[in-house]
Amino acid sequence: MPELPEVETVCRGLRPYMEGKTLKSVQAYRSNLRNPFPPLFAERLQGQKVNKIIRRGKYILVELSDYTWMMHLGMSGKIQRSLSSHYVHQKHDHVVWQVDDVTFAFNDPRRFGDMDLIPKSQVCTQVKSMAPEPFEMKAGDFYKRLQKTSRPLKTALLDQTVIAGLGNIYVCEALWQSGLSPFKTSNLITKQQAQGLLKNICEVLERAIEAGGSSLRDHRAVDGTLGYFQHHFKVYDQKGKSCPTALCSGTIKREVQSGRSTYYCTTCQKK
Ligand SMILES: [Zn+2]
Repeated sequence: MPELPEVETVCRGLRPYMEGKTLKSVQAYRSNLRNPFPPLFAERLQGQKVNKIIRRGKYILVELSDYTWMMHLGMSGKIQRSLSSHYVHQKHDHVVWQVDDVTFAFNDPRRFGDMDLIPKSQVCTQVKSMAPEPFEMKAGDFYKRLQKTSRPLKTALLDQTVIAGLGNIYVCEALWQSGLSPFKTSNLITKQQAQGLLKNICEVLERAIEAGGSSLRDHRAVDGTLGYFQHHFKVYDQKGKSCPTALCSGTIKREVQSGRSTYYCTTCQKK
């Protein structure tokens, strides 16, 4: 599932071609993805000016003249850009739009993606209760949010009201880098540990954005290039390998936690 770095990569590919431009034409080839599209979806988008493209957590928010066009990539969604004026429709292209002579296609084989149009005066409900972005989070606030739950640390970090944008991959990587157990009770974390964890979360995310995200199955930038952060995973998907921590002789273990795979080192992530 695309997480913050993958969604950021997509936004960076859209901004130079869409911001300040008008949606020349929009076609919806079905009436829903995970949820039904709003009434007259394509018609209302057509002719709207794109003011700004914002990423909030794992959401793409396209600020238009009259609406916010909310997009979520779900499990397998991607946006592909074609510079050719004769765009060839691909299988699983569900929404296609043109800006100048550039065509964009929202392609999603599994259809867990989501799109909605929110009137400008309203706040998008999906982001209303969301915690701050990791890069904007204050260490004290992060600590307080972790104090509010006795769930395991890994599960708490996947909760978008605790911190925005994280998913399975980057939580595993950041916990390893912090030497913290994914099973640690969230509200038993110390102030100092929370501060270190937040710093490592930001560091891992920054490196992943730099690498264009992680391309495990479906993620691609809008120009079709693959991210390469998967080659830098320390623990995620590394079951049975030696722990990369200096002087640690541990092995990476995979365990299912709240229905998701958790990868960690049983030796240096005991705290
Ligand atoms: Zn280790």
